[in-house]
Amino acid sequence: MFIPGKFKGKKALVIGAGKSGAAAANLLAARGFEVLLTDAKPKQRLKDRLKILNKKIEVETGGHTNRVLACGFAVKSPGLSRSSPIIAKLKKNRTPIFSEIETALAFAGTGELLAVTGTNGKTTTAVLLNKIMERSLRARGAKSRLCGNVGIPAAEIVMKTGARDTIVMEVSSYQLEDSSFLRPRTACVLNVTPDHLEHHGTMRGYIKAKAAIFRFQKKGDACVFNADDARCRKMAAACPSKVLFFSSSGTGGALSAWIEKRTKAGKRGSGKLVFKYNGKTTAIEPPGLPGLHNLENAMCAGLMALTRGASPADLRKTFSAFKGVEHRIEPAGKKGGMTFINDSKATNVDSTLVALKALADGRKNIWLILGGLDKGSPYAPLIPYLKNSVRTVLAIGAAAEKIKKELCSSVRVVGAGTMAKALAAALAEGAKGDRVLLSPACASFDQFKDFEDRGRKFKELVKQLRLNPTYGLR
Ligand code: ADP
Repeated sequence: MFIPGKFKGKKALVIGAGKSGAAAANLLAARGFEVLLTDAKPKQRLKDRLKILNKKIEVETGGHTNRVLACGFAVKSPGLSRSSPIIAKLKKNRTPIFSEIETALAFAGTGELLAVTGTNGKTTTAVLLNKIMERSLRARGAKSRLCGNVGIPAAEIVMKTGARDTIVMEVSSYQLEDSSFLRPRTACVLNVTPDHLEHHGTMRGYIKAKAAIFRFQKKGDACVFNADDARCRKMAAACPSKVLFFSSSGTGGALSAWIEKRTKAGKRGSGKLVFKYNGKTTAIEPPGLPGLHNLENAMCAGLMALTRGASPADLRKTFSAFKGVEHRIEPAGKKGGMTFINDSKATNVDSTLVALKALADGRKNIWLILGGLDKGSPYAPLIPYLKNSVRTVLAIGAAAEKIKKELCSSVRVVGAGTMAKALAAALAEGAKGDRVLLSPACASFDQFKDFEDRGRKFKELVKQLRLNPTYGLR
């Protein structure tokens, strides 16, 4: 555990001048520490980041010198591998190493940390939970602050956080693995499927990292799990705090949140989310977002909020106003009677599957833009959903040839090259009522800066799109 007082007068080392590393360095400098920030990247590539640093911070770029060994403790950025030579060097030197999040939290004047983890759905759940908590705490004269893997470093927000405020943190398995101590008052594990195994080595290693979210919780704390996920259920058995389960299938023993099944009569069984907490049961209309996965995210966020004093009315009002998170099955406008949907966050086949399941409505009218930088896994799992819902796959980017080869015997696949061409082609060939979905199942780095850049360009292109009837596909 990082206890700032224990390191008073010692020099702090921050490894990695990324967004969170820079924020941690600034926080430590503001709190009176001498700081050395070290990064293997050349100065030129860190130019913008270095501009925002406190002038007192000492910086070394283009590699790590032996100056790092003179520091009393180190703060590691989540992107840096634990097997990197700099970490080995510090370990040999017996320099204590802490994660950016636990370092930041040590300076937060708050007792209320709510932490969200899982393989998929973390950002959506954390954003929704933060909105519920904002509403609930406003009435109590306090604030809720979102941070972590959502792109806002914890170190950036702790200085603004008051003693009665709540921190909602999205935590990745990397950040959990680096943390020696974390005690959220309420945590969750949304789901656990194989991911980042190249980093964690085995599924066991990955699950162990995720379990760090509740390892140091106490009896009065709570942790929410997905009852439909066997790995989650197994993890829950080892959880020291109060365990609460949600389930979209409505099975799995004692549940605290489930979906009231729709019946044909439409009177009872409204599709509402039912929350059972502290002996009270309430049914609430879910947020108007597509897909069962979003109902799961809402159940999880809702339950977590209830454990921290939010009321069912807080849940109801926040759900009804929630429009989802950018780049996740996000409505991106209409042109020529066609609807455009931005799901740029789908950087792997599993996420594209989630989108196709969420959008399945019995119509075969989707123009699916697939491609980018291939992630190495097969596209074949998409085939049953492509057959049901997709008219044409528009393959773009470096993965286009592989996509064509693997899918062309099951669905029409056309090489479109770029997103602009894919959009123009879909508009020229599509019919009124058709949908154009960007859910690429690939990384974006071949043609874009990142998935956000890809999603924003998609939305811009949709806005500028004009029908050009000569632009057909071959
Ligand atoms: P994360 O932050 O964990 O990456 P996001 O909320 O950003 O999660 O969602 C990323 C993608 O993961 C979504 O576009 C969707 O494809 C998928 N997803 C979201 N929620 C869930 C869920 N509860 N279960 C399975 N997949 C999900």
